[in-house]
Amino acid sequence: MNLFAGFASVFQAARDAPALICPDGENWSYGRLLDAAERTAGALRGLGVAVGDRVLAQVAKSPEAVALYLACLKAGAIYAPISPALADAEVDYLLSDLAPSLFVRETPFPAAVKVATLDAQGGGSLSAAAAAASPLTVTATTSDADVAAIIYTSGTTGRPKGAMLTHGNLASNARTLHACWGWRDDDVLLHALPIAHVHGLFVALHCAFLSGTPTIFLPKFDAAQVRRLLPDATVMMGVPTHYARLLNEPGFQASTCRNIRLFVSGSAPFAVPAFEAFEERTGLRVLERYGMSETLMNASNPLDGERVPGTVGFALPGVEVRIADAAGKAVANGEVGGIEVRGPNVCKGYWRRPEKNRENFRADGFFVTGDLGVMDDEGRVAIVGREKDLVISGGNNVYPKEVESLLDQMPEVVESAVFGVPHPDFGEAVVAAVVSRGALDQRHVDAFLNGRIARYKQPKRVVRMDALPRNAMGKVLRNALRDVHGALFAKPLADASGAS
Ligand code: AMP
Repeated sequence: MNLFAGFASVFQAARDAPALICPDGENWSYGRLLDAAERTAGALRGLGVAVGDRVLAQVAKSPEAVALYLACLKAGAIYAPISPALADAEVDYLLSDLAPSLFVRETPFPAAVKVATLDAQGGGSLSAAAAAASPLTVTATTSDADVAAIIYTSGTTGRPKGAMLTHGNLASNARTLHACWGWRDDDVLLHALPIAHVHGLFVALHCAFLSGTPTIFLPKFDAAQVRRLLPDATVMMGVPTHYARLLNEPGFQASTCRNIRLFVSGSAPFAVPAFEAFEERTGLRVLERYGMSETLMNASNPLDGERVPGTVGFALPGVEVRIADAAGKAVANGEVGGIEVRGPNVCKGYWRRPEKNRENFRADGFFVTGDLGVMDDEGRVAIVGREKDLVISGGNNVYPKEVESLLDQMPEVVESAVFGVPHPDFGEAVVAAVVSRGALDQRHVDAFLNGRIARYKQPKRVVRMDALPRNAMGKVLRNALRDVHGALFAKPLADASGAS
């Protein structure tokens, strides 16, 4: 069934209740959001968007952008949101890959497809068309297997690929999270995430939409503003950098979180020392969960029960997670392997990428996430890194996370990222990029790691940085680190003076 239909009945019943509370703008009730979605759906039809058509959206975070997403659901169109930060050349690639029938963006753009505008204040040609359009009264008939959204994966390596998420994927994952995280009728969600990713758009908003509860809807994460507004919220979902920034925010203390019942973190690993520092300050243990664009959410620490830092908890109900070898055969508990996932949350495949589908889906339906992990006897999963970030030095596997976890325990270390670069003898050498308080040299790091970790896992070089390069979701851009430091161990060029 069309996901919109499920939301619409909640929105109708909660018409007068606040949906999106916008401290810098107007508040939107559920009635207003529903009406805007239906009028925008009418405008989409007027712009020629038919059932099954793609709508590429590169728009700022605004209530109107949420209405556009809902309008696409209602109209049976496929919503493909992309980051407003993408450069024109990247957008050109996505336009050719997706072949949308409409491109919605902040300002006009020379494209071979129809373009409508929607600016950060919610103005633009799309809003004008919506204001003039009659609401679309009929919700498009879709089945669970019909694609509702295409999410381009962050593309920290290679060309972005579009993961096709169906109405069934979105609905089942929303219901699962809503139940697992014990969504309450008096919950108020603080939302400072971008809405071009699954975390902000689906995980966070869908929980609130299923109950018709309010969301404090912030255009971006600003630590001072979040600190001011947290006392009005009961739930916050964020990425680890958000929690780190809150800890650095003057005045952020336990009383700031007095009404919070749940802090959720995901999209990137939450370092154990940061988890502990956050608990020490607030008295609250962040709930870490694990998911990705292709699968929505896979695993979560429990709402009630032990939340173990450095782990992402258990497979969600209805979701199967296995740790497997290269052939897809489950390995023993405690052994590192590839994380594979099967369930109603897993996307239908990549848009127009049959070769990627063959690579990433096993014959038995499991999706190969590309993450490496380990499962304990109780079924608790810990992520040890991305497969492609694995460093193979002198034939030995080095999992960056293991080394980073130790480095992060050094009192001088604020954060660290471990990666591999070409090395003439070892194939690859382990390098650590470290953000530190004050001086920190290689000898100091060696002394700390000696005896704690095998020699081959120890960084052959430590490079200090002011900040780690990260994307909008707080993920460390290891590719950028490899690019910058790739020649650390390159042999000096042979003397070319005799060359002819
Ligand atoms: P994306 O598709 O951009 O949402 O990125 C998904 C990837 O983020 C996953 O495959 C993981 O590598 C990483 N990720 C998500 N949640 C976590 C987490 N809790 N801990 C570690 N890595 C995570």
